[in-house]
Amino acid sequence: MEKEMLTARDVLNYLYCPRIIFYEKVLRQRQYETYKQIRGEKSHYFFKTQAKRKTCDEWKEFLVRLFEVTVKSSRIGFWTKADLIMKKSADEGRIVQFKPSIPSFGIPFAWKVQVCLEALCAEEMGFGKFSEGYIAPYNGGKPECFELDEGMRKTATETIKKVEKLIKDENFPEGTMYSARCRDCMYRGRMCEGRGW
Ligand code: SF4
Repeated sequence: MEKEMLTARDVLNYLYCPRIIFYEKVLRQRQYETYKQIRGEKSHYFFKTQAKRKTCDEWKEFLVRLFEVTVKSSRIGFWTKADLIMKKSADEGRIVQFKPSIPSFGIPFAWKVQVCLEALCAEEMGFGKFSEGYIAPYNGGKPECFELDEGMRKTATETIKKVEKLIKDENFPEGTMYSARCRDCMYRGRMCEGRGW
């Protein structure tokens, strides 16, 4: 049987708390959406369908702009939709993930892994090489970037392997070490004792 490819949602869930993957993928207890997720999806839908998708001045030379590009790699075991791929030349491109805002402490690790996996798939599909990943706020504010160096690429592919191993071994994992995350989790109090809430 062909191996199930993981999605960006799976990776973000795993990095939020590995137990979410256990409940969803091993026990097949799918999450219902929390208020926070519904709000996030609504704003992403609004952004995709209603808002003008602005790109900043430094991207004006990137004339080819492809939105909502399905990227996948059976080698990596991952597929998703990249929000935006821009091309300036065969060798120079940008890969961008839009988010409602960027935290003051910088780009969260999980978002970096998400964009890096998108870039790896896009490269494999022939979109050229991406040396940086970008996170751009919905409101057209200044995007932030991070390097897609070898270390980041290795971390991203290893994350996929860790999720696959968790699903294959069916071992109940440790929950997140951040108790604040349990507050917004639908498994809290139903299947999981959570952490310090
Ligand atoms: S309640 Fe906390 S530890 Fe349990 S699955 Fe949710 S986030 Fe993880």
